[in-house]
Amino acid sequence: MRFVLLTGGAGYIGSHTYLALHAAGLTPVILDDFSNSSPVVLERLQRLTGQPVLCERGSVADKARVQALIERYKMTAVIHFAGFKAVGESVAQPLKYFANNLGGMVSLLQAMDATDCRTLLFSSSATVYGDPATVPITEQFPRSYTNPYGHTKLVCEDMLSALCASNPAWRVGVLRYFNPVGAHPSGLIGEDPSGLPNNLMPYVAQVAVGKRPFLNVYGRDYATPDGTGVRDYIHVEDLAAGHVAALQKLLSASENFTVNLGTGQGYSVLEVVRAFEQASGQLVPCQFAPRRSGDVAQCYADASLAHSLLNWRATRTLADMCADAWHWQSCNPDGYR
Ligand code: NAD
Ligand code: UDP
Repeated sequence: MRFVLLTGGAGYIGSHTYLALHAAGLTPVILDDFSNSSPVVLERLQRLTGQPVLCERGSVADKARVQALIERYKMTAVIHFAGFKAVGESVAQPLKYFANNLGGMVSLLQAMDATDCRTLLFSSSATVYGDPATVPITEQFPRSYTNPYGHTKLVCEDMLSALCASNPAWRVGVLRYFNPVGAHPSGLIGEDPSGLPNNLMPYVAQVAVGKRPFLNVYGRDYATPDGTGVRDYIHVEDLAAGHVAALQKLLSASENFTVNLGTGQGYSVLEVVRAFEQASGQLVPCQFAPRRSGDVAQCYADASLAHSLLNWRATRTLADMCADAWHWQSCNPDGYR
């Protein structure tokens, strides 16, 4: 058996990746402190795989614990999802983000180094491109940040570069996700934001299911075809498959890489709303509101490197993303609660 440690594996992207790894014949082991997820996820994963889920409740910052876990399972690799991700909260509480996203990363890397487990996929983000001068965005674009969350992703990437330069035994894949949305087609796992959703798709889903009266559309005067912000939404199932492809590459080749995981196609807020209305058969009332601070007009990937390097590309459409997000939301109006 080949065991793979998933830090933050009970979260949104981690849980979908768990299933993709399992289907690929690997044995994922979750380490999660459930600071932003529910243990109910584990029951759902067990139902979907028909097998008990290997999971330890604990923090990635607990170095001794992580070392013991790596040793116990002789982990082949680690996928590091664990971290906080709310941009607004990171502005209000930067130390919380520096402690968990940077402190957690240092601790994890030390545990990996001490146990000679030096193969890692890291969850980075398109946020490291800041406000891009043009689109589509290639991996060569300059990096910057506009908030502490983005800053932590940038610093983590830099830590990994320094580490790889210091010791050629490290095998590292940096995955820059664009906008993950949607859910597993079973409707059993999906995105479950606590409180008011920050992101577009879960907000739209909550309006469609009747939990919120309308969507605020932040900005209608961007330099985009309909004036609303354009993003590269990627189905979380495609993203999960991207992790399997990236891990296979990392285990078979002697190079490190940084790669965009997106579709290469941008959609505006209004296009997403229309697609969601079609998929759900529900109306999504909208109100225009001022621009959200820190937002960029357009952000979508040049996804060609992922295709040539990993032989992976996203296949699911915006309609699929909306249909699966709706299925999850309508089956679980209160998420995992
Ligand atoms: P999520 O919050 O659903 O999952 C993160 C998981 O990590 C949660 O289960 C949480 O309980 C756990 N966690 C947090 N700190 C921990 C710690 N110290 N020890 C152990 N577990 C801990 O988030 P997600 O959407 O699945 O994102 C996963 C990763 O991908 C994050 O690093 C995030 O920054 C990155 N990312 C997410 C997006 C997105 O839009 N969802 C986009 C780009 C990058
Ligand atoms: N957005 C919006 N209303 C919301 C949430 C988001 O109009 O309630 C817009 C936002 O301004 C951006 C797009 O939807 O143009 C995607 O936002 P999200 O937060 O999902 O992703 P990010 O901006 O982090 O790429």
